[in-house]
Amino acid sequence: HAKKSGRNTFRAYRKGMDELIEKRRALEADIERGLERGEFELYLQPRVSARDGAIIGYEALLRWNHPERGMVQPGDFIPVAEVSGKIIGLGEWVLREACRLAVDLPPHVHLSVNVSPVQFRHPDFLAGIEAILQETAVAPQKLELEITESVLIDDDQRARLILGHLKTLGVKIALDDFGTGYSSLSYLSRYPFDVIKIDRSFVSALGEQETANAIVRTIIELGNGLGMRVVAEGVETVEQASYLSAAGCDELQGYLLGRPQPVVEIAREISETVVIELRRIARRTVHR
Ligand code: C2E
Ligand code: MG
Ligand code: MG
Ligand code: MG
Repeated sequence: HAKKSGRNTFRAYRKGMDELIEKRRALEADIERGLERGEFELYLQPRVSARDGAIIGYEALLRWNHPERGMVQPGDFIPVAEVSGKIIGLGEWVLREACRLAVDLPPHVHLSVNVSPVQFRHPDFLAGIEAILQETAVAPQKLELEITESVLIDDDQRARLILGHLKTLGVKIALDDFGTGYSSLSYLSRYPFDVIKIDRSFVSALGEQETANAIVRTIIELGNGLGMRVVAEGVETVEQASYLSAAGCDELQGYLLGRPQPVVEIAREISETVVIELRRIARRTVHR
């Protein structure tokens, strides 16, 4: 009897595995088809100055308008795309699309793009970026690449060479999700980061866990001391924003400042900002 139930458990397990593998295969094929049919879209989330709320730039966040499944979030397909290698084509699409968008942004506004470790490790990574920069004729200063600590772990020499080369081109580099990975402090002095992004988990724990406040203050001090801009991710409350701003954080990003939105919405927002800015300049001129 025990033997039989064991066999049944195994069969159920096999069935579960087969279904999982089948589902993943379907998703892989779906990604390919989704790219061909234009189902992917970049949403933009603003990053604002902690001093005066001015928009410094936007982070591009990938969305998938799936014909059957509706809007699919990156957490549900990027891991599969990474394992299957589909992230290479997808990442190239993201970069090209982001650079095209960046061309139309005001000159002082940059666009941040997330780079998967799988993309970064690909031998053609750097050549691909150079080609897209050239093809879109975007000012490289408008492009910022967000990488995570995991890309720095395995091939130190290569990572340093690539980051150094990107910097020479004028592309900015941000260290994303800071504090969640292996987070060795030595990364900060060994690589030429322009920006460090404090992970959302620390920001959301501000005022709730004493250690979070200490960690956040220390990251800000460290970043400032090394001449990097420090950005806080996942800012949702006014209390978090004022704490971060008082602590010397340079930029804020999070639902409080703006949710990720389709590009059309952003375009409306920018033109409004420009209008307000123009009005302010006009008023100042009249006063004088
Ligand atoms: P990330 O780069 O750390 O992006 C920040 C994530 O936090 C985004 O989730 C964003 O929508 C979310 N977020 C922003 N503000 C708040 C807030 O105030 N509260 C909360 N709860 N969440 C907030 P999203 O868009 O689902 O992206 C998740 C992750 O997927 C990203 O984390 C990034 O690692 C990855 N990802 C997104 N787009 C791309 C892409 O184009 N390429 C690659 N390789 N990865 C991407
Ligand atoms: Mg990011
Ligand atoms: Mg992040
Ligand atoms: Mg993340």
